[in-house]
Amino acid sequence: MTGSKGNGALLDLEIREAPTHLVPVGLRWRVTGNGIPINLGRADPTDTVRVAHRDVCAARPRHDVSRLLAHWRTTAGLAAAQAEL
Ligand SMILES: [Zn+2]
Repeated sequence: MTGSKGNGALLDLEIREAPTHLVPVGLRWRVTGNGIPINLGRADPTDTVRVAHRDVCAARPRHDVSRLLAHWRTTAGLAAAQAEL
């Protein structure tokens, strides 16, 4: 999923769904019906959110997403993420 516009810039969204509680505030995104990514800020309206690929990229690891990356590495986490696709 690439090429969506976010805050006026191109946003490369991660293809996996992320459990909201594992995503730091400010990194939580939702895609509208028009395909526009909206940053949810402090809102926590759903069980899962989207994240930008840059924030979970293995090439530039961030400390604050380590719990999310650990979740994705588990079998259950992987199955849940793929079920959303
Ligand atoms: Zn990457």
